[in-house]
Amino acid sequence: MHITPKITPIYQTSVFKFEDLNELELYYGEPGSRYMYSRNGNPNSDELADAVNLLENGVGAIATGSGMAAIFAAIMAYCTAGDHVLCAADIYGGSSALLNLELSRLGITVTYVPFEDLSTDLTPYVQSRTRLLLCETISNPLLRVIDLRATAEACHACGLKLVVDNTFATPIITRPFDHEADLVIHSVTKYISGHSDVTAGVVVARVAEDAERLKQISMLFGLTLSPMESWLAVRGLKTLRLRIEAHCRNAEAIALFLEQQPTVRTVHYPGLHQHPQHLLAATQGSQLFGGMLSFQLEDEAEVVNQFMRATKRFPFAPSLAGVDSSLSYPLGTSHRSLTPQQQVDLGITVGLIRLSVGIEPVEELLTDLEQAFASVTHTMQTN
Ligand SMILES: *Cc1c(COP(=O)(O)O)cnc(C)c1O
Repeated sequence: MHITPKITPIYQTSVFKFEDLNELELYYGEPGSRYMYSRNGNPNSDELADAVNLLENGVGAIATGSGMAAIFAAIMAYCTAGDHVLCAADIYGGSSALLNLELSRLGITVTYVPFEDLSTDLTPYVQSRTRLLLCETISNPLLRVIDLRATAEACHACGLKLVVDNTFATPIITRPFDHEADLVIHSVTKYISGHSDVTAGVVVARVAEDAERLKQISMLFGLTLSPMESWLAVRGLKTLRLRIEAHCRNAEAIALFLEQQPTVRTVHYPGLHQHPQHLLAATQGSQLFGGMLSFQLEDEAEVVNQFMRATKRFPFAPSLAGVDSSLSYPLGTSHRSLTPQQQVDLGITVGLIRLSVGIEPVEELLTDLEQAFASVTHTMQTN
C-alpha cells in the first residue's frame, strides 16, 4: 500500500532507523537527505523553519522551543565571552532580562540605545567588541516603528550585525531582509502560529554561514522544537496572510473608535495618520499596520480595573496575537521589572492598556468596548 498524505504527518519520534551503513554514510555525506535524531532535525520542525524562511526570503532557518530560545540562538550566533551588544531600549522584557541576568554572566555585556538614536550614528555606543544590535520592527507597547534600512546602514557602518525581532510585524507586513537586516527572529507563539496554543520560535538567516552556525547552536544547546508543536505552528502559519489582514482591519477600526472616546487620552497605532512613524510604517510595510495597539486612560488604577472588569471580549491575558482578542497591562507584566524611571522614559504609565485585536466580527468588539467605556465613565462620575 502506497500512502501519500496531503499534509505532513506528525513524526512523533525521537530517532530514525537506518537500513545499513550505506544509509548512515548518506546521512553524513548528503546533509538534509536523511534524519537521524530529532534534536538534530525532524521533518516537522524543518517544515516550519522552511515555511518561515520562505516568507522572510532567507537562506535557512531553525525552529526553536520558544521565542526566547530564538533570541538566545541569534545572539550566540554572533557573540562570545567578552563581546558587547547594543539593544533597542524599547524591547521585549524577556530579551532585556536574558541580556541583563544571564548573558552578562557569560561575559556578554549590553548597552541600550534610545529609539531616537537607533537609525542615526551608532558610534557613541560602539565599543571595540560590539557585535550586533537587537531591535524590534514594531515595538511593544507603544508601537513605535523602527526605520530598518537606516538602522541596518548605521549598524553596517560600524561593522555590526542587525538582528530584528519581527514578531509584531510578521513577514506579511514587513520583511527585514528587504531592508538589509542580518538575522530575523520570531516568537512563533504569536502571529506565526496565531491560535494561542503553541510556544515556539524561529531564527532566519540571510547568509548560509549564519544558517550553519544557527543549526549547530540549536543542536548543541538543545533548543529544538518538538514535532507536535512544529506541526501545530505549520497549520497556523497556513492562514497567516488571511489572519493578518483581518487583525489589521479590526485594529484600525478599533483605533479610530478609541480616538473618539472622551476617557481615552492617547491611542498608539501605526495606522493612524498622527502616529509619529505612520509614513515610515506605510512605506516599510505592505500598507498594513498590525493587529496591536495601545491606549492611555487616566493614570488611575481603579479606572483601569473598571475597564478590565467590564470588557468581555478582551480578557486580560498577558500574551498577544491570537485569533481571539485579548488585553494586556504593560506596567504590571512585560515592563514590570524596569525601574520607575525607565518606565517613565518609555511612556509606560498606570493608565496604559495594550490590546491584541483578534479576528472576531468587528462590530462585536466595538459593542463590547462601548459598554466597557460606558462603565468606566459611570465609575468616574460616581467617585
Ligand atoms: C513573546 C515575545 C518574545 C518571546 O517569545 P516566547 O515564545 O514567549 O519565548 C520575544 N519577542 C517578542 C516581541 C515577543 O512578543
